[in-house]
Amino acid sequence: MKSGKQRRAELDAKRQARAAREAAEVVSAAREAGERAAALGMAVNRAALAPHNSYGEPDFVTRGFYADEPFECVDCGKAEVWRAGQQKWWYEVAKGDVFTTARRCRECRRRERARRSEARRVHQEGVARKQRRHAETGAE
Ligand SMILES: [Zn+2]
Repeated sequence: MKSGKQRRAELDAKRQARAAREAAEVVSAAREAGERAAALGMAVNRAALAPHNSYGEPDFVTRGFYADEPFECVDCGKAEVWRAGQQKWWYEVAKGDVFTTARRCRECRRRERARRSEARRVHQEGVARKQRRHAETGAE
């Protein structure tokens, strides 16, 4: 008959073997995802990224490829996915800050853009009115 100590040792060995197997699966799944992403043209082109002064680097740069990222809209709370292709465009074409990520759903983004452009228009009108007044009165 096995002692309690022996049984425990066997159980520990089994547990460790399972943990190692699971870790290997995670690594191989990550590698497969990376290869798939590279095949789809979703590899990160570091040279195309906007420069940054931070010591660290964002996860996607370390990982080397873009992957679809689920997020919740900060305005309406809707669940959305920021697609790998959208990320590549944002960071490499639009030169978006590498530490920014998607925050709003398409609908809220559209609304926010409209709100900002309206605010800008109102502000510029105000500035123009003030300048006209100054010009008319000769005030400084
Ligand atoms: Zn939203």
